[in-house]
Amino acid sequence: MDQTKEEQDLGYDLFPERTTSKYKKRSMAESLFTFNHKCQFMLQVAMDTSPYAKLLLSAMKSSGCKTLKDRHFSCEDCDGTVSGGFDAASSQIVLCQNNIHQQSHMNRVVAHELIHAFDHCRAHVDWFNNFRHLACSEIRAANLSGDCSFNNEVARFNFGVKQHHQECVRGRALRSILAVRKISKEEAEKIVNEVFDTCFNDHAPFGRIPHSKTDAQFAYNEYKNRDRYYANL
Ligand SMILES: [Zn+2]
Repeated sequence: MDQTKEEQDLGYDLFPERTTSKYKKRSMAESLFTFNHKCQFMLQVAMDTSPYAKLLLSAMKSSGCKTLKDRHFSCEDCDGTVSGGFDAASSQIVLCQNNIHQQSHMNRVVAHELIHAFDHCRAHVDWFNNFRHLACSEIRAANLSGDCSFNNEVARFNFGVKQHHQECVRGRALRSILAVRKISKEEAEKIVNEVFDTCFNDHAPFGRIPHSKTDAQFAYNEYKNRDRYYANL
């Protein structure tokens, strides 16, 4: 497989800046007061205030994967309607500055991509060759980031809340896989089904499914206090 073909298969075509202007330094005038500026600002707000992001960043830090804003995040222009991605080769989270306009959206994207980064940190994920690994992380990211939480889904009245949540996670995981790998829908569905129960029930590091910001805040408080009871033994 030639280089270009391979890059396309890995979903790099969704992030044109990765290949075309990765090393091109932007002029000051270009970078000030632009989408990039706003993206950096919203990222900082997410890292400082979102309980999802704070828990994931703390958990990664205690697993030896300290995450730095300037090194591990990159605000870039992306094609189509993608919001973000995790670039395993550089351990960088890509945030699509041209597609993220609201803080709540930024918070969800940061949480989603940090779950991929957390999985990358704790396990030896073979993102490129093992589709089950990719599927598992996409299921976890959809389940735990708030992507499928009550307020984000208009179609929620069609199902019971619990069943709806599962169907939403399944659908989102499927779409994410199809966006970055050239495999058939049937093949992707089969892989998602095979790993679904195991990965859907793996709630690390939240210890529960954080259905709302309040749930996520509880999970974060529990996480911070996790060593407290053993401190005086
Ligand atoms: Zn994802």
